[in-house]
Amino acid sequence: MFLRKLKKGSIKPPRWDVENIEELDSLGVEKTEDFTWKHILDFYTCTECGRCSDNCPANTVGRPLSPMEVTVKIRDYAYQNRPIFNIAGGNDSQDQGFPLIGNVLEPDEIWSCTTCGACEEECPVFIEYIDKMIDLRRHMVESAMIPKDFQDALLRLEKTANSFGKPPSKRADWVKELDDVTVKILGEGDDVDVLYFVDSYASFDPQLQQIAMAIVRGLSKAGITFGILGPRESDSAHQVRRLGEEGLFQFLVEGNIEAFKTCSFRQIVTTDPHAFNTLKNDYPGNWVVRHYPEFFLPLIEGGQLKPVKSLDKADIYTYHDPCYLGRHNGIYEAPRKILASIPGIQIVEMERSRDRSFCCGGGDVNLWYDIEGEEMRMGEKRLAMAHEAGANVIVTACPFCLLNFDDAIKTSGLEGEMKVVDLMELFTSTL
Ligand code: SF4
Ligand code: SF4
Repeated sequence: MFLRKLKKGSIKPPRWDVENIEELDSLGVEKTEDFTWKHILDFYTCTECGRCSDNCPANTVGRPLSPMEVTVKIRDYAYQNRPIFNIAGGNDSQDQGFPLIGNVLEPDEIWSCTTCGACEEECPVFIEYIDKMIDLRRHMVESAMIPKDFQDALLRLEKTANSFGKPPSKRADWVKELDDVTVKILGEGDDVDVLYFVDSYASFDPQLQQIAMAIVRGLSKAGITFGILGPRESDSAHQVRRLGEEGLFQFLVEGNIEAFKTCSFRQIVTTDPHAFNTLKNDYPGNWVVRHYPEFFLPLIEGGQLKPVKSLDKADIYTYHDPCYLGRHNGIYEAPRKILASIPGIQIVEMERSRDRSFCCGGGDVNLWYDIEGEEMRMGEKRLAMAHEAGANVIVTACPFCLLNFDDAIKTSGLEGEMKVVDLMELFTSTL
């Protein structure tokens, strides 16, 4: 407990004492001894209480992952093959160190993890899982042990700085559809209050572009000077890092930081919690970054943005905490306060909310890869929780949650009964 990780949301570097990854012979964890001493200590410390697995959404929906089993299997393997005191007499062949993937762990066990953080939140002795998963993935990426869907997404990101493979010149095309707000594309030397970091999904996905439009409407109505980087913005690379592609992560980060340095701004506002998390916790430098609910709440409380229109009285709303806003960054109140500011809104809480929220299932690398053997989608499970709480509208502040719930509504046959809406889109509809 004394040695617990204090900074949530961040991913450990490939090696703590090496800044330039080019200096490393290999990346990630192939064998037990490649883990850090703290991670090896974790394996020996597990009490086998099972709380991590009971709360793991991947385990709940039948994916081939139980975090406790990962720990127990690696620990048992270490006991058998890596004795500290080899009292029985040496058997050198035992001391070779076998690759973990294929011998102790299966690839889909590692890809099943959404990096939601529920296991770490529940563990009574603060055992870490996410950093270990990423270290295992780093080795799998380096050894070309990754599914083709990931390879394709990474290739598109490398070529076009977005996972859609769209030309960077089209990144700001969504602003052309706005007839009520002018969005400045920032050039060299421009000076604004807010750099609005749109990121790839809200730039290119037509459904998610509506969230970007709601955000710029809010900024404009509140009288904030703002701009976007447009073609000079690269993907935030949150997923790239969590997929284990550290080299590409660093390449995309450098592109964004170079672009940031060409203009002046007081803070960065993001569309989604993933970009917020990586800009705040993974990027070098001390950028002032806010995900939009935290940015807009003081403007709403100060009266610059005033919701006046009421919502349909028949609708009952519930707020879903996105993992990278809630558990990883501790932001629970701002979105709830924005929701509560809407006149006449009826809100219920799900049993699993705030730090006990249940991952929607796709905000991370699982957007690009379907795990075999899943009994139901995490989004469907979460939707059922909202339904049980008595809500017919699930509100979220993450574009990836929105896509997942939208899919889940269709696959659960709940069209017409359940709806999903982004918080900012809902809020600006009442202005
Ligand atoms: S981070 Fe989430 S999905 Fe991954 S092992 Fe932990 S609880 Fe399961
Ligand atoms: S919650 Fe922690 S102590 Fe309990 S089984 Fe999981 S890793 Fe081990």
